Amino acid sequence: MIMDSGFAASRRPGMMSDMPAQIDFFLCLKDNFGVLLHDPQSGATAAIDAPEAGPIEAALNRTGWRLTDILVTHHHADHTQGIGELKARHKCRVVAPRAEAKRIAHVDETAGEGDTVKVGTLEARVIDTPGHTAGHISYFFPADKLAFVGDTLFSIGCGRVIEGNPEMMWNSLVKLRNLPDDTRFYCGHEYTDANIRFAKTVEPNNKALIARADEVAKLSAAHKFTIPATIGAEKAANPFLRADNAELAGALHLTGSPAWKVFAEIRERKNKF
Ligand SMILES: [Zn+2]
Repeated sequence: MIMDSGFAASRRPGMMSDMPAQIDFFLCLKDNFGVLLHDPQSGATAAIDAPEAGPIEAALNRTGWRLTDILVTHHHADHTQGIGELKARHKCRVVAPRAEAKRIAHVDETAGEGDTVKVGTLEARVIDTPGHTAGHISYFFPADKLAFVGDTLFSIGCGRVIEGNPEMMWNSLVKLRNLPDDTRFYCGHEYTDANIRFAKTVEPNNKALIARADEVAKLSAAHKFTIPATIGAEKAANPFLRADNAELAGALHLTGSPAWKVFAEIRERKNKF
């Protein structure tokens, strides 16, 4: 499937900065997203993760941007295996989660909860979002209201809980849910279609989910990506962000259970779906 690449941020009106961040995103490997974040003021450009060097190089050529940084969300190979090749060619700085730095090659700096990471004049606040991996981090750029969430949150889904436990993952998702509603988030994979098929089995009557399903069907038919999505829209439609919703808990026969247990039940159902 041919996908559009988008300068989504640059086209968007009402940005806070005079020179808003620009984004180019594209597929890597089978269904990983490659993302470049560009600061027009300084010329700095960060790759968010490095799933595959080739498509990232192609995006750099297409945009004319120079790679200065790689911001890593977690250690999995499909997010890090392009780092060596890109660093050798561009001498870029590699920032990685502090708790996983030993498992990632070529790391220059490490980051964790509350740290600030700069890409030129753009500033990210680092949020610890463990669960998918034990040291997973997300990058939130408050001035541009952009979040890069790796494999923690997907549109209408979330990452598998591999190294952490359901309570840890639920707490990480709540931290992302608490970002401003108009935050646009970029995730690690294009899984939205399959996520919607599952979500409809959990909340078949959720109007926001039905609306998102219609929107995604149109985007997919037009060979367009389904991200970025906004946190505000996502928290109305994504069952994994709604585990503390009483109606949803009731539908799963878990009335009165802590939200993380409801989350664990939804995640378990998805694993078997
Ligand atoms: Zn992963």
